[in-house]
Amino acid sequence: MRELVLAARPRGVPQATDFELREAAERAPGDGELLVRNVYVSVDPYMRSRMTGVRTYVDGYELGQPVDGGAVGRVVTSGDPGFREGDWVLSRLGWRDGGIVRAASARRLDPDVAPPSTALGVLGMPGLTAWVGLVDIGRVEAGETIYVSGAAGAVGSAAAQIAKLKGLHVIGSAGTPEKVEWLRSLGIEAFDYRETEAAEALADGIDVYFDNVGGAQLEASLAALRPFGRVVACGAISRYNDERAEPGPRNLFLMVTKRLRLQGFIVSDHDDRYRDFLAEVAPWVRDGSLRYRETIVEGLERAPEAFAGLFRGDNVGKMLVRVGPD
Ligand code: NDP
Repeated sequence: MRELVLAARPRGVPQATDFELREAAERAPGDGELLVRNVYVSVDPYMRSRMTGVRTYVDGYELGQPVDGGAVGRVVTSGDPGFREGDWVLSRLGWRDGGIVRAASARRLDPDVAPPSTALGVLGMPGLTAWVGLVDIGRVEAGETIYVSGAAGAVGSAAAQIAKLKGLHVIGSAGTPEKVEWLRSLGIEAFDYRETEAAEALADGIDVYFDNVGGAQLEASLAALRPFGRVVACGAISRYNDERAEPGPRNLFLMVTKRLRLQGFIVSDHDDRYRDFLAEVAPWVRDGSLRYRETIVEGLERAPEAFAGLFRGDNVGKMLVRVGPD
């Protein structure tokens, strides 16, 4: 089995040369372990900050070590009575063809309930992020107007649609006409932030801003928020490749005059909400009232390219890498 290791700390947008594909030793699983062959591996924006090597809420990646992260695959050999050969599992194996997983840390997936890839997207970490951000952090209410940036991405497309299902008026932004078209087909008032200034699109005011992007979008949203509005600080992808931190929004004093609340959150602090999230969101996905898309890049060796593509906006919905057959 092959694995991708971090060969160099990226400067700016990650390059292919920052990673190295190497052969990994294989072994049989011991008691309580599974040998898993990956089918899909996830590329996620949070991996970028881990590549700097600085500890934030999670350890940085070590140079020369495999890039771990979300992966969905099938059990090849089971050393645990709770799993059988062929079972679909969610693990943290990351950018590899497969490997050994502790059974206690694997989640079994039922392919009859939902396609296994959704465990990395709409019914997995990004979906939970969207739901927790709206329900627990933003405490959104029917009738409010919410602005979601990065609205055609994994988190954003879930957040925008969940907000709509909860009775909010939703404005979303994305970076291509195709993405804007998709969002409009979902009943979201969408604009292309490369063509239209956010200030113009938000001129009628908003109650909540679900921030995936940071930078100029955050500044425009602070200006557009009504008194007592809230910012759900989910991410700031426009800043992840910066070599040097830029000054923050110039209009932060509006937090005071408008009595705004801005709260950041990290989804892994909210794992206890997973069941509640699934109970509400999985039926919407099953009956088609919440749509999801995936952009699938073929081949483990192309994971770095797929990852860099997140910062170019190559993906509609969740960006995944398929590393093997079903
Ligand atoms: P996405 O699927 O949204 O992919 C990233 C998207 O970001 C791209 O498709 C691109 O879309 C957009 N983008 C890239 N660069 C810029 C830029 N400079 N300005 C504006 N948009 C840009 O990724 P995720 O859904 O996985 O993540 C979305 C955000 O949520 C990220 O900030 C991420 O870090 C955050 N996050 C936070 C979590 C938490 O626990 N707080 C958990 C998971 C994710 P476009 O074509 O529209 O530009």
